[in-house]
Amino acid sequence: MSIDQLSGAAAFQKAFRGDIITPSSASYEDARKVWNGDIDRRPLAVVRPTNDQDVSAALQFAQEAGVPLAIKGAGHSYAGHSMVEKGITIDMWNFQQAEADLANHRVKAGGGARLGAVDNALVPHGQVMPAGVVSHTGMPGLALGGGVGYNSRSFGLTCDQFIRLKVVLLTGEVVHASETENPDLFWALRGGGGNFGVVTEFECRTHDLGPYTWGFLAYPSSQSVEISEAVIELARTAPRAFGVSISYGIPAQKFGLSVPESRDTLVTVMVYHRGTPEDDIIKKVKAIGKPLLDTVEINDFLTLQTMSDEKAKAGIGWYMKSGYTKEVKRDLLEWMSEASVDYTLNVSSPHVERDIYTLQLLGGAIQDTPEEATAYTGREAQWHSAVECGFTTPAERERIVSWIQESWKTNSSYFDMDASYVNLNTDDGDEPVKKIFGAKYARLQEIKSTYDPNNVLALNWNIKPLA
Ligand SMILES: Cc1cc2nc3c(=O)[nH]c(=O)nc-3n(C[C@H](O)[C@H](O)[C@H](O)COP(=O)(O)OP(=O)(O)OC[C@H]3O[C@@H](n4cnc5c(N)ncnc54)[C@H](O)[C@@H]3O)c2cc1C
Repeated sequence: MSIDQLSGAAAFQKAFRGDIITPSSASYEDARKVWNGDIDRRPLAVVRPTNDQDVSAALQFAQEAGVPLAIKGAGHSYAGHSMVEKGITIDMWNFQQAEADLANHRVKAGGGARLGAVDNALVPHGQVMPAGVVSHTGMPGLALGGGVGYNSRSFGLTCDQFIRLKVVLLTGEVVHASETENPDLFWALRGGGGNFGVVTEFECRTHDLGPYTWGFLAYPSSQSVEISEAVIELARTAPRAFGVSISYGIPAQKFGLSVPESRDTLVTVMVYHRGTPEDDIIKKVKAIGKPLLDTVEINDFLTLQTMSDEKAKAGIGWYMKSGYTKEVKRDLLEWMSEASVDYTLNVSSPHVERDIYTLQLLGGAIQDTPEEATAYTGREAQWHSAVECGFTTPAERERIVSWIQESWKTNSSYFDMDASYVNLNTDDGDEPVKKIFGAKYARLQEIKSTYDPNNVLALNWNIKPLA
């Protein structure tokens, strides 16, 4: 089957202004790639709209032709939701622009914008929109699922910054969603993902950034539990300008260190703080234990935002699990530390550099928005625990994925919440989605039934329309 054989193909090809990339196009192999190299799908076409009318035409064509559809922002979904087998992928490639309105503390970002574009429009001018930590990640998928990053405790989730979204509906109609225009749709788009239409423009609030302090404290793995407990205690009363992530089982050689008594592995405490090293909280965190390394100092925020770009580069396979908890039990710390060291020494791919288990502090401004105010679920979480591993061959895949699946059963048994973040998980299927949205799933189903009664937009953390 080729796109030419589909019902309505000739009219679509005539009306559509953007590129239509098919298996016979030179750019097809590139166009069908997504970030996670574990996803290998062959669409009938990847179409790249140039404006809202093109998006509308593509949506209508896929529905008339009766083929499956995917929407691609920057293609970073762990689950590979933005590429479709034997269907049409609408790739928002031509919607990557980000334009700041500094005077009004706003930014407009296109439905295919990468986080780097948003940062580049704002950060050199002293403003920021809270989002994720790798600059080639897509803002669309990230923001529609929530959006967690270094400044979430200061300013809230990315979806909390939404002022007004432009959305092309499955009917082809272009509408806006805000507190006053289609408020149900606006509620659902703040956490409910790509279930309801194609967002072609995000208008968001921005914030003053100020001086930034960040860096790493590193300790031998043998001290993981004690160091983590001290950080967790400090975090209970930390100002919201302060953020921290703890990573386990880090090879010491990564920091040029040698710690034979800890099997050459480290626990690292990554500190990110909107303030200066003179602030009390920074003095306190630096005073924890006796770090082998301390790089926490005033530093450039854009460097922080791009620091992980290379190690998180596209193309290799990735598998990830994550979940929320309010309190961190000692058992969880012991497990994350031991499991991570075991992974680094016995399981990992020699070709992949990535943290294994991490624990990230949430709370702060994320909790300013009431839980019921948006579809995003889990605001009461204080910590996010995640495991993420990469692989480059089928044999590594088998070894590593089964290791995570087994390890995760124990890890998640120590959480006090039965919830997780849509954007940072690989698996899909009905049960995880219902679990993720909990009591909000029924309202999301009603809204899905209004905007996508036939579940045309099914490649996402899928909310099933009511029968
Ligand atoms: C290297 C890396 C780092 C990450 N870091 C963070 C982080 O710091 N914080 C965080 O919160 N998350 C993070 N994530 C997870 C990230 O939020 C998700 O992978 C997210 O899906 C990325 O968005 P995307 O547009 O690239 O996704 P895509 O794969 O393009 O799309 C994901 C979903 O969104 C839908 N979608 C995409 N664009 C649109 C649109 N314009 N309109 C409607 N629906 C659309 C798609 O249909 C699909 O269902 C990271 C992921 C990676 C791979």
